[in-house]
Amino acid sequence: MKYNVAQLLKEAIGSHRNFDIEEDICDADHPVEHVRGSVDMVRTHQGIWVQAQLDVRVPQDCSRCLEDFSRTLSIELDEEFFPEIDVKTGARVLLPDDWEALYISPDHNLDLAEATRQVTLATLPLKPLCRPDCVGICDRCGRDRNNGSCDCYNREIDPRWAALRSLMDDQQT
Ligand SMILES: [Zn+2]
Ligand SMILES: [Zn+2]
Repeated sequence: MKYNVAQLLKEAIGSHRNFDIEEDICDADHPVEHVRGSVDMVRTHQGIWVQAQLDVRVPQDCSRCLEDFSRTLSIELDEEFFPEIDVKTGARVLLPDDWEALYISPDHNLDLAEATRQVTLATLPLKPLCRPDCVGICDRCGRDRNNGSCDCYNREIDPRWAALRSLMDDQQT
């Protein structure tokens, strides 16, 4: 998700680029495996403002049945990136005093991967479900109850309770 913005940095404030992206993210540490959408970059007086509408595909494990599945989320990036090196003079730019700021690398590449990671993680549900009505696995036999129910909760009386009951019946007589 790197874009060389050397040319855009040389242009006047307000200059912009609009383009579509679609790519796989081959990084096991990144929550997203595939991204597509449109990106708009505008030259500001300090850097480049990025606005993007992205559909990101995120692999997840269902919190109920533990199956892998993929979810596609729509996210929006709205971030300003600042150059570390002045594209015209090659001098180091005095960076804004903001630890959260996003930077354009010294070779003028603007990388959307980190911003995409942060926004995706903030948007993901804490307890992912493969589908809204997932019934999950049986906590007794471990069977995935989406594939059919087990007998664990259907037996009228567990054999151990049946034995206890007959003991109680004996005491009463
Ligand atoms: Zn599930
Ligand atoms: Zn069961």
